This record gives sequence, C-alpha cells and structure tokens, in this order.
Amino acid sequence: MSAAQLAIDGGVPVRSRAYPSWPVFGEREELALATALRSGAWGIGGRSIPEFERAWATFQGAKHAVAVASGTAALELCLWAAGVELGDEVILPAYTFVATATAVMARGAVPVFADVDPDTLLIDSRSAESSVTERTRGIVAVHVAGCPADLDALRAVARRHRLALVEDAAQAHGAAWRGRRVGAIGDVGSFSFQATKNLNCGEGGAVVTDDAGLAEAVWSLHNVGRRRQGGEPILGGNARMTEFQAALLLAQLERLPEQMERRHRNAGYLRKRLAAIPGIRPASADARVTEHAWHLFMFRYDADAFGGLPRADFIRALQAEGIPCTPGYAPLHRSIPLQEEVARVLHSLGRARIPTEAHAPAHLPAAEQAGRDAVWLFQYMLLGDEADMEDVAEAVSKIGRARVGGT
Ligand SMILES: *Cc1c(COP(=O)(O)O)cnc(C)c1O
Repeated sequence: MSAAQLAIDGGVPVRSRAYPSWPVFGEREELALATALRSGAWGIGGRSIPEFERAWATFQGAKHAVAVASGTAALELCLWAAGVELGDEVILPAYTFVATATAVMARGAVPVFADVDPDTLLIDSRSAESSVTERTRGIVAVHVAGCPADLDALRAVARRHRLALVEDAAQAHGAAWRGRRVGAIGDVGSFSFQATKNLNCGEGGAVVTDDAGLAEAVWSLHNVGRRRQGGEPILGGNARMTEFQAALLLAQLERLPEQMERRHRNAGYLRKRLAAIPGIRPASADARVTEHAWHLFMFRYDADAFGGLPRADFIRALQAEGIPCTPGYAPLHRSIPLQEEVARVLHSLGRARIPTEAHAPAHLPAAEQAGRDAVWLFQYMLLGDEADMEDVAEAVSKIGRARVGGT
C-alpha cells in the first residue's frame, strides 16, 4: 500500500481530523437563552425580537427588518407584501434551493426559471429579461453560496418592466454589492437562520426593506393580519419568531464579523490553490461583489482532466479522503414533483402550459451544466486554518494523480 493509494481503494486518507464543528456557541448563548426563559415573555412582546430586528436591519444596511419563523416564510412574505397574486409569474434562477420556488407557489404564482451565468452560477439578467411576459410580477435574485447576483442589471430589468425585485439572501448574511450589504438593494429581501446557515438559531428568518409600507405589510402578514399601529386587521398568516430564537441570534450575531473574516481569508486561499489544479474551476464572483458571505464554496469539476472519473465517484473519493462535499443542486426545472405542481396550477388557471419556453432544458444550458459538474464545500470548513484548506487541495490533487498518473 503506497501513500498515493486513494483512501477509497484502501489507502491512507489525506485527513482524519474533523473540520471545525458547527454551530459555534458558549456561555454567551447559554446566558441569552436563560434570560429569555426567565423573562416569561417567550413570544411576540419579548424584548429580544425588536432588538434583533434593529440589529439585523443595521447589520445589513436596511431601514427595516421583520424577524420571522423561517427563510421560506420570509420569502413568501416578501412576495405577498410585494403584491404577487394567484396566476402571476415570478422569474427565479433554475439553480437554487427548492424553497425559492415553493415560496412562489405558496402564493399561487407560477415559477418561471431563468438560466444562470456559467461562471458565477447566479441568475443571468438577460435570461431573466427574456422570460418576462405580460403576466410577470416579480424577479427573485438568489445570492447562491453567499455571492451577490448582478443587482445592477436586475434592478434595470425590474424597472424597465415594472416588476418587484426580491432578494433571496438566505445564504448571504453580510454579503455586499458595490459596498452595500444585500437584502434591501432590491425592493425587499429575505434571510434564513436555519441550522446550516452562516447565522443560525435552529430555524428562523427575516425580511429586510427600505420601504416603510412594505415593512408594515410584512409585519401584518406575519402576525395574522394585525396592524402594528392598531386598526382593522387584514388577512395574514402566522410566521412569528419566538423570543428564544431572537435571543440566540443576538448572541450569534456578535460572532459573525470574525467568522466572516475567517471564511473570506480561507476561501481566498482555497480558491487560489484549487484554481491551479487542472480540471478544477472555482465559481467566480463579479468584480462589483465587495463582500462574499461564503455560505458555500462551489467549484466545477471536469471529469476529462481526471481520466474520465465521473463526478459521483470523484465526490465519493474526496469524502473518503476526509473532505466533506456534495454535488449541490439539481436544477429545479428538472424536478418532477415541482413540474407536476406547476402543471396543476396552470391547469386550474385554464392555461395549457407556460407561455414561454423557459422550462425547456435547451434554454437553461448553464443551469443544466452546473447540475452535472458542480461540487460544493461548506461554510464551516472555511472556519478552519490554512492547513485545513491545504488538505482540500491535496486530496483533490491526489485523486488527479491516482487517475491520470504523474506527480
Ligand atoms: C435555506 C434557503 C431557503 C429557505 O430557508 P429556510 O429557513 O430553510 O426555510 C431559501 N432559499 C435559499 C437559497 C436557501 O438556501
């Protein structure tokens, strides 16, 4: 058995230590939760909820924030407050988490998939614009991996066609486009504080906006239609956050700036090391991205440079070397349950099919390709040190050497 033998073939793995564990917490969080408990105000009316809303609005550079139950609820509330209604079309990237589409469908609207930019894997504004019809009501810009989408181009498209621009910033805590943090650069934006996200309280979300009217609408809609200033209620749902979630978020938020810095430093190093390996191409960021949140580190894998080793086998080999990784999203236009639901909605609306050809794979070549060749690493790995990044590069190189020979 030589050192060069892959772990998956019985060799010694590059790495046997775990990457930093997630979440990161300590006495600060224990105290926050105990204080929330003893206050007896566990739901709306507790002190931490408005305090977190102010802190989060300030952190993202938005005028208003409303804390809610989840990222999915936050996105649905954005669309609801922006006036998305039954039968409207909403454009979103095909390469995103399924919740982006289900939030649209929860409003009775029809998701229309746009392609992504092949280098950034983020929504392509030209593809989005070509999907606009007279029924289009909004565009959802998803900052996948924590990298801001081209908000200048998307704002221009939204303005030209009088559409709402919603930011799905579920992965983009602290990310910035041309020096401004994301969320409220479009009309309204959503965040997730689900357990795997870069700011986490188990489950949770927030809506941010600079528009006072939208903020009031979101607040009412998330609190069964009650009016913050009193008065006749409107029709709403329940997407309230608890005091425990807000207390935990306030404590976790104190850790975020240092974690962001660490992820930034490590991702920069890892990007350089991986880009130098033939057949590996890290996703790029637009030059106008001034802060990347690094929820994910995404790279493209070219099997040809690894002796034809299929991506699934590359991923298994990399995992066996001690490097956590996954293949990431399958593009949403390929999801059969989603397609069936879209067909049901269209049928109930008396429409034969989507009026654009946006669901045809030929129109979404970059999303298709990303679904085939992307590999993802996770944010918590970027909380390690340079040696932890070096192990990723070494494991990838080792697989390359084993499959194509050389050193
Ligand atoms: C996590 C995520 C969501 C949903 O957030 P939840 O808090 O899990 O409901 C939505 N969109 C994207 C892009 C996400 O990554």
